[in-house]
Amino acid sequence: MLDVLKVRIYPNKGQEISLAKSFGCSRFIWNFYLNRTNTQYEETGKGMTYCQMAKDLTQLKKLPDYEWLQEPTAAVLQQSLKNLESAFKNFFAKRARFPKFKSKHSKQSIRFPESCSIKNSGLKLPKLGIVKASFSKNVDGKIKSVTVSKTSTGKYFAAILFETKDLTTKAQGKISGIDLGLSSLITVFYGENCYKVDPIKPTRKYAKRLRIRQKALSGKVKGSNNRRKAVKVVARIHEKISNTRQDFLHKLSRKLVDENQVLIAENLCLKGLARTKLAKSIHDASFGMLLNFISYKLDREGGKFIQVDRFFPSTKLCSCCGYKNDSLNLSIREWICPSCQTTHDRDENASRNLRAEGIRILSTNTVGHTEIQACGEAVRLVGTCAKKRVSEKQESPATL
Ligand SMILES: [Zn+2]
Repeated sequence: MLDVLKVRIYPNKGQEISLAKSFGCSRFIWNFYLNRTNTQYEETGKGMTYCQMAKDLTQLKKLPDYEWLQEPTAAVLQQSLKNLESAFKNFFAKRARFPKFKSKHSKQSIRFPESCSIKNSGLKLPKLGIVKASFSKNVDGKIKSVTVSKTSTGKYFAAILFETKDLTTKAQGKISGIDLGLSSLITVFYGENCYKVDPIKPTRKYAKRLRIRQKALSGKVKGSNNRRKAVKVVARIHEKISNTRQDFLHKLSRKLVDENQVLIAENLCLKGLARTKLAKSIHDASFGMLLNFISYKLDREGGKFIQVDRFFPSTKLCSCCGYKNDSLNLSIREWICPSCQTTHDRDENASRNLRAEGIRILSTNTVGHTEIQACGEAVRLVGTCAKKRVSEKQESPATL
């Protein structure tokens, strides 16, 4: 299976110049062929394929005006064309917007599809030699490609894609249901008990600083050096916010994956949520990112991540007797079941229901793989992320 490791790299002056040239050429190629494809499409009704562009590029590089395109590794420029072709494919398959021209002021990136290795605890890249890098863990497999990027704040990173051994199925750990929310980011029920984790709010923390800097930026003359500096300062604050959030979510997902072999969460409609007035909190909570981290980490370690259909009434069901309480709304944090008189914490009750539903899915959709033993319940694993359809819609996701 493939794994990705992202590391910070520290190119020296010469390597920085060489990278800048590669970024420039790769961007030029993208813009040049985007323009050419558009023109050709207008004239003939057909765009250019990767093969046509690559052939054309070989000729282009021979022209005296374009000799400078020979400086970077040919594979990097070809990769740029491949990216352009897939950008068009994604657009026509309605997965993405129409490809845009790239600017030299936004994030830069190039991909080395071959000939990369790790040497003397640095990263060896074609034509650049060994670039100083700080590795957080070992790359113990064949490197498939390396994507080098430079942020708008001037930092360099390398995303190393490599082949790793398939891991055996995770045989230990708990089965937990996770309820996502805004007052508590997650409520985890692991069978015996339940705990909550509060969200962090970096957007709020940095809001004032961001406002001041953005105001300062708007006063600067367009195209001036001062403006460029101010743009960088604003970008650095945004970077700080997103780093704080990602770091927190990485640590949280790591803890969850270490403790569990099966995690069960609700499949949320995130796009719908982000459009409501809770958008800022939703953004800070980054449910999607958290679920994504959990999913790939658990997958990599042979665990199972189950997403229960979002129409499953996890909040409204009584986890004791199964009574469905339709009178619940967002403001009610605690309720007493009219049928069995149990007092429920809203989030804890939901996480209990999600766990039970996940176990039900696991045990009914059996295709006969490894059996899991956790907290006394024997459960058989399902091949893929299982879903349950409940015909009537019980709770809109906006009432989280
Ligand atoms: Zn009840």
